[in-house]
Amino acid sequence: MSDKYLEKYKNPENPEEILSKLRECSSLEDIKKLIYGIFPDLVKEYTRGYSSDYPYLIITWYTLCKAIKTEPKGIILVEFVPPSIKDDISEEYSVLRKFLDVMTANGFVARRNEEFMLCNKCGLAIPRHNLYKYVKFRFPDKFPDKWDIKCSECEVYVQEHKLQETNI
Ligand SMILES: [Zn+2]
Repeated sequence: MSDKYLEKYKNPENPEEILSKLRECSSLEDIKKLIYGIFPDLVKEYTRGYSSDYPYLIITWYTLCKAIKTEPKGIILVEFVPPSIKDDISEEYSVLRKFLDVMTANGFVARRNEEFMLCNKCGLAIPRHNLYKYVKFRFPDKFPDKWDIKCSECEVYVQEHKLQETNI
């Protein structure tokens, strides 16, 4: 794995102590504060969901939440996602993984900031162009035919807004 963040997100020196603090957290805010103290650059963005142009992503997320009996609450865009549990080095990332597991159990899905961005009109999550191309090529039905930096609904809004301005 060639990932520039592999070192940065390894467990700190006292993983057991942190994991026990994590278990003692009584609110999501406490959890966020704790993890911010350890990995201050981890979370790049919070948003309430995916753009309506990506029903496949919305349905997958909602289905997961239903399966683990939680409500979908939001998406966190993170700088790094730990290696899979099947990976030999995965133990070195147990603190980060536990944090993401707790977030998932609370209805938050973590996506790589390198792969997702926010619509600059409504702030919902949109796949970046590279991820869009990758998925669209392999699974054409899963993503819409056109990619844009904002949702199609937001595009309509911008066009209408321009139209109103030209009418004045
Ligand atoms: Zn939008």
